[in-house]
Amino acid sequence: MGCFGPTVPTEYGGGGLDYISYGLMMQELERGDSGVRSTASVQGSLVMYPIYAYGSEQQKQKYLPRLASGEWLGCFGLTEPDHGSDPGGMLTHFEDAGDLVVLNGSKMWISNAPFAQVAVVWAKDEKGEVHGLIVERGMEGFSTPTTHNKWSLRASATGELVFDHVKVPKENILPGVKGLKGPLSCLTKARYGIAWGVIGAAMDCYDTALRYAKQREQFGKPIAAFQLQQKKLAEMVTEITKAQLLNWRLGVLMNEGKATPQQVSMAKRNSCEIATNICRDARQVLGGMGITGEYPIMRHMMNLESVITYEGTHDIHLLITGLDITGENAFK
Ligand SMILES: Cc1cc2nc3c(=O)[nH]c(=O)nc-3n(C[C@H](O)[C@H](O)[C@H](O)COP(=O)(O)OP(=O)(O)OC[C@H]3O[C@@H](n4cnc5c(N)ncnc54)[C@H](O)[C@@H]3O)c2cc1C
Repeated sequence: MGCFGPTVPTEYGGGGLDYISYGLMMQELERGDSGVRSTASVQGSLVMYPIYAYGSEQQKQKYLPRLASGEWLGCFGLTEPDHGSDPGGMLTHFEDAGDLVVLNGSKMWISNAPFAQVAVVWAKDEKGEVHGLIVERGMEGFSTPTTHNKWSLRASATGELVFDHVKVPKENILPGVKGLKGPLSCLTKARYGIAWGVIGAAMDCYDTALRYAKQREQFGKPIAAFQLQQKKLAEMVTEITKAQLLNWRLGVLMNEGKATPQQVSMAKRNSCEIATNICRDARQVLGGMGITGEYPIMRHMMNLESVITYEGTHDIHLLITGLDITGENAFK
């Protein structure tokens, strides 16, 4: 359907689309399930984007068409067991060994890891500078254990990336970037997609609640006729509309190359906040039926607990906005 790398140029197999089209695609995927949107976000924004933006021509030709078609699935390794919100402290590192580098360390909470053929991994060189490496399944010493027992985002496979003296050819290092700017620029693209995506989950909850409220009768009339239920439904559609307008404006700025990471943080945080609240209100409109698997609301609600945490937690995005407006760094 063209949901992998929609903004990547067509010459590399992408869709050549603008950022509002990309956002709407993410919204519609997440109307189905946040896990499906996560798979597309990781593939497009966290794997294809860094290869397109920072890769050599040879890397682009080799990987992008296969990732765009879905022949290969990719994953993005930044988070580590002891470094989540603070990725600059990462321990995964590599050493020069002639034509290749030797990679050691581990990554945790990696979407798509169990099935991915390709991993874009962020690791430090001997000087402590962060680089992106393309690690391929089958390289000796590279394994991807699955994370089990997740109560959220169950339609998206999550795993670890373990590197035990993995020999990575130097031609697999992304030549165009070094430092945390590399992974953070990818996250800006993905967070923009999340800002749109979670609105899809909220819309599905709102639609479900509206339909149910019109059909369910209590005290001799549809519950949609009671003011308390109308308040919930009216506020849901108001918040969805406001968030879409914020996203649309951000999309215009993205298309013009003017959007800042701080603006993207604001949109990601706002969308996650309103989507989480809408799921909760929608669940209440359905009464007891709302907790069952007959309706999608609890599934969306559980999924959003991951989305509000990954790609920068709710707190971290607030701190980014706080730093932006006050000039004061409250991270440390
Ligand atoms: C389902 C799922 C999929 C994921 N997929 C990927 C992936 O594909 N690739 C990848 O690299 N990562 C992925 N992640 C990891 C995700 O990005 C991290 O979980 C997230 O960045 C938070 O890190 P942490 O879990 O270590 O929490 P921590 O950083 O330990 O944070 C714990 C709590 O402390 C708060 N906190 C931290 N620092 C501060 C501070 N300075 N001030 C105030 N509060 C603070 C946080 O807001 C949070 O509430 C995924 C996570 C999940 C759950």
